Amino acid sequence: MTRRFGAAVLRSYESRFVLEEVALDPAPADGEILVRIAGCGMCRTDLAVRRSAGRSPLPAVLGHEGAGVVVETGGPNTGLSTGDHVVLSFDSCGSCRSCLAAAPAYCDSFASLNLFGGRKENAARYADASGMELAPRWFGQSSFAEYAVVAARNAVRVDPSLPVELLGPLGCGFLTGAGAVFNSFGVLPGDTVIVLGAGAVGLAAVMAAAASGAAIVAVDRHPERLALAERFGAIPVHAESTDLPGLIRQLTDGGARYALDTTASAQLINDALRSLRPTGHLGLVARLHTELSLEPGALDRGRKISHICEGDAVPGLLIPRLTALWQAGRFPFDELIRTYPLADINEAERDCEAGRVVKPVLLP
Ligand SMILES: [Zn+2]
Ligand SMILES: [Zn+2]
Repeated sequence: MTRRFGAAVLRSYESRFVLEEVALDPAPADGEILVRIAGCGMCRTDLAVRRSAGRSPLPAVLGHEGAGVVVETGGPNTGLSTGDHVVLSFDSCGSCRSCLAAAPAYCDSFASLNLFGGRKENAARYADASGMELAPRWFGQSSFAEYAVVAARNAVRVDPSLPVELLGPLGCGFLTGAGAVFNSFGVLPGDTVIVLGAGAVGLAAVMAAAASGAAIVAVDRHPERLALAERFGAIPVHAESTDLPGLIRQLTDGGARYALDTTASAQLINDALRSLRPTGHLGLVARLHTELSLEPGALDRGRKISHICEGDAVPGLLIPRLTALWQAGRFPFDELIRTYPLADINEAERDCEAGRVVKPVLLP
């Protein structure tokens, strides 16, 4: 049976999103679920499609921070039932070495599954009103829409008493910041953490570090973002402060144990390395667009630098931890969210690009 529903379609890298009727046929296949989307966060990676140099296929339905309610299951082996509330996360193959090692963010097929084409076996199941095929599912979901079909593997069941329409960003942006702190760094009480860039990922890292009992320094150039970081437990420091590394070393008793960069600024990355104590670890989550040259000695004395994808998370383990922390009042991610009707997706994008909102969530 063909299902028709509304979705925000991006037709060219320069155009606005347009709300259209799309068709999905048939749904869902064995091992998949059909989800009625309650809300979907807007993440930087959605907007980066415009700058993907044509690598992400269009026209497409973007959106990869969906959450909602299961309305249909494909076959008996999804482990989910109609009516379950779920958060959707990134796609992974389940069978490569990384997936077998519980590191699905480093799946051999991560780029092809999530960014550049989706699963071959269901490569062309969305069509527009004229019957033209749309790009395969974005991040295995395409959730800027009323419905999404996803592999059950990418859906995490959550407590139905939670506000499901706000939970989508736990599947990517907030998962990335919190996962870097909990998984990649293993922050312990008394550790010192620098967070560079107080956007959605950075502020989730601040909250997670605060929940871990760490001392935190947040660096940004927007006063209102710094005020948010301070509210969640960080010492705010302006990115253009004189001798930033010296100032941070002073605030962290001689140097921080961990630093998380969400800015991709080569200057701030070097400043962060100079702010680390010996054996300190700098994690990078933002994609670099320029060559990164390191100052001499930047990695001396056991300092290390690594890229962190999706917070090194197994979504089925981390998302329930984050909702439990939220229920305990220790991970107030909802304070970073502003909701918009899906029809206002272009306004949400403008607000996001202008820094007027930390995390837009679109409600279909
Ligand atoms: Zn894999
Ligand atoms: Zn994302």
